[in-house]
Amino acid sequence: MSTPAYDAGRLALMLNELRLPTIGRLWPEFAERSDKEGWQATRLIGALLEHELAERAKRRIERHRAESHLDPTKTLATFDFSMVPMVSKAHVMALATGDSWLEKGATALLFGPPGAGKSHLGCAIGHALIDAGYRVLFTRTSELVQKLQAARQSLQLPSALAKLDRFDLIILDDLSYARKDQAETSVLFELIAERYERRSLLITANQPFSGWNDVFPDPGMTVAAIDRLVHHSTIFEMNVESYRRRTASDKQNSRRRQSSGDNHQQGATTMTG
Ligand code: ADP
Ligand code: MG
Repeated sequence: MSTPAYDAGRLALMLNELRLPTIGRLWPEFAERSDKEGWQATRLIGALLEHELAERAKRRIERHRAESHLDPTKTLATFDFSMVPMVSKAHVMALATGDSWLEKGATALLFGPPGAGKSHLGCAIGHALIDAGYRVLFTRTSELVQKLQAARQSLQLPSALAKLDRFDLIILDDLSYARKDQAETSVLFELIAERYERRSLLITANQPFSGWNDVFPDPGMTVAAIDRLVHHSTIFEMNVESYRRRTASDKQNSRRRQSSGDNHQQGATTMTG
């Protein structure tokens, strides 16, 4: 005698209550196959749970990507390492897995002139870390400083800093463009001090440390900030000419080559003609 089937409507209600939408979507098809092929009950349960977990992981990564504000086009796949021969691809790939440096709250510093690819590379590392399950926030330094300053004015700075703790990595883009206003830059110092040895920062800047006197309100604070940032850090000096300028002149050169090649060919045809 076969046991009566479970009421499908009640099943749907319970799956909804338990927030198991993937199982809710998949179970009719899976149950049918299971009945037809005579699966063990554990196999059916296992298969449904695995799908729910996989979907959940996918949704989590999508949420992390959306909250990160990373430019979706700036990835490792679109980054041309041959343009920055001084940057070791192997080293970047090691950072992109996250493992050892995020765990100890270490820092990555990307220096170089405008257009060198600092923001792109920072973003690309961010995307890879999100793929690896970490939480990342990409922000222009000036924007974050303004937000933290507003938080300080309403006496919310500690809770604003605590909220940023959920990010394994904050990418501070364009540090040297931070405003010089005394109070604003000291919130930047507080962020650095707060995350030191706990939560990672990746900083891009046009100028290496020697040019940082303008970033913080006084030399003592500059030294204290740099001291914390370099303590556990990876530094990439990307001293190359602007990518845009180089690719523009490459295009121009290849056009020139092409048109001189065309002339050449034309000359050859004329000769045979
Ligand atoms: P920076 O932040 O150093 O001023 P960006 O990262 O904004 O420079 O780079 C400027 C532009 O050039 C961006 O569109 C970026 O995607 C592109 N770019 C820079 N370097 C590379 C590279 N090595 N490979 C591919 N695109 C690059
Ligand atoms: Mg940039």
